[in-house]
Amino acid sequence: MPEPANIVPAPKAARIDHRYHPDKPREECGIFGVYAPGREVAAMTYYGLYALQHRGQESAGIAVADGRQVTLHKGMGLVAEVFSRERLQNLTGHLAIGHVRYSTTGASQPLNAQPLVFRYARGMLGLAHNGNITNVAELRQRLAATGSVFQSTTDSEVIVNLIARYGSSSLEEAVIKCMIDIKGAYSLLLITGDRLLAVRDPYGFRPLCLGELPQGGYVVASESCALDTVGARKLRDVQPGEIITIDQSGLSCQTVLSPRRRAHCIFEYIYFARPDSEIDGFNVNQVRRALGRQLAREYRVQADLVIPVPDSGTAAARGFAEESGIPFEEGLMKNRYIGRTFIQPTQDLRDLAVRLKLNPVREVLQGKSVIMIDDSLVRGTTSRKIVGMLRDCGVREVHFLLSSPPVVKSCYYGIDTSDESELLAASQTVEEICRTIGADGLYYLSLEGMLGVFGEYKHNFCTACFDGNYPVEIPAGGDKKAKYSLE
Ligand code: SF4
Repeated sequence: MPEPANIVPAPKAARIDHRYHPDKPREECGIFGVYAPGREVAAMTYYGLYALQHRGQESAGIAVADGRQVTLHKGMGLVAEVFSRERLQNLTGHLAIGHVRYSTTGASQPLNAQPLVFRYARGMLGLAHNGNITNVAELRQRLAATGSVFQSTTDSEVIVNLIARYGSSSLEEAVIKCMIDIKGAYSLLLITGDRLLAVRDPYGFRPLCLGELPQGGYVVASESCALDTVGARKLRDVQPGEIITIDQSGLSCQTVLSPRRRAHCIFEYIYFARPDSEIDGFNVNQVRRALGRQLAREYRVQADLVIPVPDSGTAAARGFAEESGIPFEEGLMKNRYIGRTFIQPTQDLRDLAVRLKLNPVREVLQGKSVIMIDDSLVRGTTSRKIVGMLRDCGVREVHFLLSSPPVVKSCYYGIDTSDESELLAASQTVEEICRTIGADGLYYLSLEGMLGVFGEYKHNFCTACFDGNYPVEIPAGGDKKAKYSLE
């Protein structure tokens, strides 16, 4: 059984309230790793995590190794809040892994922050995980029955325990045995005193890519935007089922589990990933634009203007405007400095949340009929408020178009899409949703149209939240509350 390593105490926990944006699925986690001989890499990891902050804002952590020892600092909050210059200076070494987290399994609390760092039979081991293990309850029960004790309530700790169990073999062999046991979505970074491992599940649910530093050394990250930020050149995506080991002898790769099929999360392109990232061969911004063009081909809606819900609908709205010939306008302005205004808001403030975040431009909108484009619709509460704001400033007609199909199922692979009962499209017809939101028309992109954007690669994606075709078996009964079943 692994023992927890020396953990630098986290700063006082801050509770982040995401309710100011209840209409969006919540992002999962971001991971970043670097191996750069002869260099101090804590600051580079900090900047890498900064680039991935959109993937998780609840906690952040960095584990650094110097060839022998792994040192860790993590805490609740944004990257810039968890790490000061002094903290980073105390993290010395030439290899590191980092993590930003939004809780998809396990509550938002300091013990669940990552990386997890443990001592086991072969030394120190750190882990950063993005994804969700679908058979975690069964594995945890099995491990607990044979003496394992758990510090956190995350599925990631189950992975660490399994690797420790199989630890009498080499680390790679232990990881392979663990990969055979665990099901679901996982992109992993592991660090020992002198080695970095990158691992991607055999379906490739969550993204993970490999880059090279100009002065020598390698970087691995959830998204290529993090490689760009630290000046690394993207070499390729980590392949589904692959383990990459980086140590003093260089880089070695092995594909250990052959996928039956690929199942990259299509929502990464629709909403989660940064537009400047390239994931599994597709630039996110270009995909979003193509989704907007396809939406315009599917619906010939007449209107004076195309406006996006910024920023999530901007690229699709541009694509729609290009294809339809209807002028694009920024009819809603986003307050980019909203930051953490809504941490622990009062009820009154929560009600004002949408208005504080978005403001309609009366001069652009008054008397116009508009096509408003967003990427997805989950619960509809924000959309209803936005439509109300547009009407208040004199918009004649609001046609609401979505650059994805209706979200009707929960995600079990690392995205919080809410419980099925909270998904508007799971219980209401398009006409009913349209009335709920108060729009004059509501139009979703078709599933075929969405996949068509990827051409010959259209079979490489998970689309389970749109069509219920789960590539990997989901927890018995499909109980979304399994998220907290470990607590
Ligand atoms: S169910 Fe939806 S959100 Fe989850 S991995 Fe599949 S496509 Fe992504």
